[in-house]
Amino acid sequence: MRPQDNGGIGIRPVNFCSNCGNKVVTRIPSGDDKPRFVCDDCGTIHYRNPLMVIGAIPEWGDKILLCKRAIEPRLGFWTLPAGFMELGESTGQAALRETLEEANARIELTGLYTMLSVPHVNQVHIFYRARLLDLDFGPGMESLEVALFAENEIPWDELAFRTVTTTLKHYYADRRQKPFPVHTGEVHAPPRPSKS
Ligand SMILES: [Zn+2]
Repeated sequence: MRPQDNGGIGIRPVNFCSNCGNKVVTRIPSGDDKPRFVCDDCGTIHYRNPLMVIGAIPEWGDKILLCKRAIEPRLGFWTLPAGFMELGESTGQAALRETLEEANARIELTGLYTMLSVPHVNQVHIFYRARLLDLDFGPGMESLEVALFAENEIPWDELAFRTVTTTLKHYYADRRQKPFPVHTGEVHAPPRPSKS
């Protein structure tokens, strides 16, 4: 069975065992109901699970901080500071670290805001609201530019990811509410253009 047959989840296959180096096969282990990458030499089952992407909405007065991406995917598009959670850290630590890495900015988290499943890429995106602690920020390695935007300056057509767009739409709709509610939801693949 090909990994693509696994409920339609298109994940990059595991070819070799990270424990012993032998070739792995794809099959349903006993007691399981999904195909996994299995090493029949040492018995290791290489489970693949969704990845967490953690970010922040750094606020300064009525403005928020966005980063223009210097790397693919979506090079040249704007995003909230966010990235893959590292092993051994908490979600809050990941938000602080990503904001420091991408925008050289120090923040204080003020609350969980959105948690969005993105099943077609096997990710979960979490954004915190945050307070920017000072204006001493600037582009990190992964950013071309970092800037503060008022609501009427948000480059809606140049946002990098739909979870960022969704988060910012909630944010501006909720802004007058105290406290901000938490939003959970799903973002699915955009419809493919029809072949006509
Ligand atoms: Zn092995």
